[in-house]
Amino acid sequence: MLKIVVCVKQVPDTAAQVVVENGQVSWGDAPLVINPWDEFAVEAALQMAQEHGGTVTALSLGKEGETEALKHALAMGCKEAVLVSDPALASLDNVAAARVLAAAIQNIGDVDVVFFGRQAVDSDTGMLPAQVARVLGWPALTQSASVTVLDDGGVQVERDLGEGRQQVTAPLPAVISVTKDIGEPRYPSFMGIRKAARAQIPVWGLAELGLEAPAVVVSWPELMNPPKREVTTEMIEGDSPQEIAEKLADKLLAEKVL
Ligand SMILES: Cc1cc2nc3c(=O)[nH]c(=O)nc-3n(C[C@H](O)[C@H](O)[C@H](O)COP(=O)(O)OP(=O)(O)OC[C@H]3O[C@@H](n4cnc5c(N)ncnc54)[C@H](O)[C@@H]3O)c2cc1C
Repeated sequence: MLKIVVCVKQVPDTAAQVVVENGQVSWGDAPLVINPWDEFAVEAALQMAQEHGGTVTALSLGKEGETEALKHALAMGCKEAVLVSDPALASLDNVAAARVLAAAIQNIGDVDVVFFGRQAVDSDTGMLPAQVARVLGWPALTQSASVTVLDDGGVQVERDLGEGRQQVTAPLPAVISVTKDIGEPRYPSFMGIRKAARAQIPVWGLAELGLEAPAVVVSWPELMNPPKREVTTEMIEGDSPQEIAEKLADKLLAEKVL
């Protein structure tokens, strides 16, 4: 039986208009949802549990009451969920966040595999999987497009390098981050949604983890909106696609784009 953990982050909906107001990031009233990349991580974790036997625990580090992502993971089929939350953890850099998540993974105990999404769509560093692996001292297999558990008890992944694939093997326990190629995330079932709605999600703070607040060394002193772009739109008319294409090509040459 494999003990699998999947880390999920709660982020603003990708359709939300994110702006900086008074030096703070704001997404208005837009709902918070599971980080879209993490649905693929949940899918990978559930596939592994189904194929090889095991349990999947969803783990999230967030503010008090931020359980939407965890409920989504439960509705997809995860057996358990844990929220790590403490007022002392309000603003963390990657290394600090990795220390806290690693402590939670050790608190769950006897974990074989930890799945991550490729990156969080809000702060987008994509560094947390490797950082958590480093703190745990486990191998990090990142950008995995497929995952296979080997007969010798290890794991093999195919890493997506953009221009090719790379096979990598490692012993368990290991940390694996996945890409979209892992497979379309399943829809939450009706029963899953009901189970998730009733779930009492345990909250672990620093005391439960036996941890001091980790040092935060990276800061982001100023946040700003990107400079406004001046855009003018011109519709090119013509009697045939060929004429329109010729006019477009002339304009692109005149503007020295081509
Ligand atoms: C505007 C802004 C800028 C920042 N810039 C930096 C910076 O330059 N350097 C730095 O060290 N930190 C930075 N941070 C802090 C950083 O966002 C946090 O450390 C964050 O919790 C983890 O990084 P990430 O969101 O980029 O996750 P990523 O590393 O992009 O996420 C990868 C995967 O990790 C998992 N994951 C991410 N967050 C959580 C979570 N809270 N709970 C469970 N699983 C999670 C998910 O599976 C996700 O798919 C910044 C934060 C903000 C708000």
